[in-house]
Amino acid sequence: MTRPRPVTGATRVVGVIGSPVRHSLSPAIHNAAFAAAGLDWLMVAFEVVPGAAPAALAGMRAFGIAGLAVTMPHKDAIAAAVDTLDPAAAALGTANTVVMQPDGRLAGYSTDGAGFLASLHDAGVDPRDLKVAVLGAGGAARSVIDSLARSGAGRIAIVNRSADRAAVAAALAGDVGVVGDSSDIAAADLVINATSIGMGTAHAPCDLALIHPQHIVADLVYHPLETTLLAAARAAGATVVDGLGMLVHQAAIQQHLWTGVWPDPIAMRAAAEHELAARSG
Ligand code: NAP
Repeated sequence: MTRPRPVTGATRVVGVIGSPVRHSLSPAIHNAAFAAAGLDWLMVAFEVVPGAAPAALAGMRAFGIAGLAVTMPHKDAIAAAVDTLDPAAAALGTANTVVMQPDGRLAGYSTDGAGFLASLHDAGVDPRDLKVAVLGAGGAARSVIDSLARSGAGRIAIVNRSADRAAVAAALAGDVGVVGDSSDIAAADLVINATSIGMGTAHAPCDLALIHPQHIVADLVYHPLETTLLAAARAAGATVVDGLGMLVHQAAIQQHLWTGVWPDPIAMRAAAEHELAARSG
């Protein structure tokens, strides 16, 4: 792995804020990419207690911090407190990225959906006109639904434990969004697990007998990297897209927004895999 540059008075600083934040992969991913690009930038994790997102933005201004990655539970509060929002953040009411602009205004972005689309692109998948089944209706699901609708997906069925949340998520996709059930999973071209089921467990988010070789199966869960759903999809001969691709690409978009330089996603993915392996071991 590339040796990090020494920190000096000229080093530009970005942060990740969350609570809890100590398990965030963002510092490992971003600092690896800064080092690989030879950029004199550094990411630091800041534990920000719930309710303190506006104070964190004031601190960002005071310290001249160039950008923030934002994780739970601050994404909605940050979206409400920044000066401008990109279209995805405005539609979702959440922001996972803040950029300090040259005029001192703070711009909020949501990079998760675009990161997911980039992970599909890596697998050679274009969502235009596809029939999609999204399992889950939380924040990650809504980012994915919004980006798929903007990319021309043909039909997006939301399959979720809580029907009321499914309806709210489906509305994000306009005419192509519907509340679905297991028949939509079987009929889909693309099946996406956006629930937290499978994170740290062997549980699967749907009946695995529904998965067939023509499916493209994406899992947003990346710990473990090969979830029970993805293992079953691979065994069935389906195309498989793991959750680390989305994590890495949404981080790459963040870094481009902060620095103006596209980072090396391979260095980012290697850092994420190294960090996850260290945690598993
Ligand atoms: P969230 O807002 O808490 O939503 C969780 C979703 O999972 C909801 O739809 C919830 O259903 C469903 N769910 C949870 N436990 C369930 C159970 N036992 N049975 C049925 N449904 C269940 O979480 P999130 O922020 O959307 O994150 C979801 C997952 O995506 C997490 O594993 C997270 O790590 C992952 N993620 C990955 C990336 C990436 O870059 N790869 C980015 C963001 C998130 P209800 O609505 O009925 O509660």
